[in-house]
Amino acid sequence: MCRGRSNPRHFCAQEEAFEVSGDEGRRSVGWSGAGGKGKMGIKRTILVDGRELAYVLTVKRVKNVNLRVKPGGEVAVSAPRGMDGCQVDGVVREKAPWIFAALARLEQAGSQPRLCDGGRVPVRGRWLTIRVSLGCPETITLEGENLWVAMGADAGETVGSQIRNWLMGLSQEELPALLESCWTIYSRVTGCQERLPPALTLRWMVSRWGSCAVREYRITLNPALLCLLPHSAAYVVFHELAHFRHPDHSPAFHALIARLLESAGLPKEAELRRDMGLNLRQLVKG
Ligand SMILES: [Zn+2]
Repeated sequence: MCRGRSNPRHFCAQEEAFEVSGDEGRRSVGWSGAGGKGKMGIKRTILVDGRELAYVLTVKRVKNVNLRVKPGGEVAVSAPRGMDGCQVDGVVREKAPWIFAALARLEQAGSQPRLCDGGRVPVRGRWLTIRVSLGCPETITLEGENLWVAMGADAGETVGSQIRNWLMGLSQEELPALLESCWTIYSRVTGCQERLPPALTLRWMVSRWGSCAVREYRITLNPALLCLLPHSAAYVVFHELAHFRHPDHSPAFHALIARLLESAGLPKEAELRRDMGLNLRQLVKG
């Protein structure tokens, strides 16, 4: 992710994040693969951090709860007889980060951002269709699976620049708090003596999610992080913070990342990176 091992500035490029796996169609999440003949499923919907997660539950003669995300995006769960729906909901909720990651990968496999009417853009890992309407400029509304962008009749702005302004506004609201919470975990895990988190700069970048200037005690984050699942954005922040301890990508660096992620209750690094195959250039220049 960084360029140059001895350079005090450590730039984390997007290339490291390209790891779109081919197994989206059968994403076993923590349990053994689903088996048995298909039976009528029961559709259930749970709320996870305000986001709906629908799945199809089938009761089978199995020992464990099995879970997979089908190529069409259906989340299929099979559970043993005798287990009630609320218990299954609990298991699904526990594995929600992995499910959302698998769904995001599916979307991503065939999608890249296109910032125009009818195009698509992910927000917090969820792909939305862009709908342009005439109205008061600068108004962007998230409604179901649509992102409504109001354009003035003589607006000089493009749909792309309006969406980027909106994402920058969200970043200014959310990324300082994300840095703060990641830094709290970082300082606890490393015993860091600094009293305050590093300074934060937000900047659109076409090939990096973030960068770290060790001597300046500053990190720079890409507002495009708002397009990723929140836990992938947190991973980028941890990655940059870890460079204050290890200015390289050594095994010790990755071991620290692993401790930070575990401490934050996040999936492993390789899992998180899979969500980051977004074409930043299309987002930043589109
Ligand atoms: Zn790096």
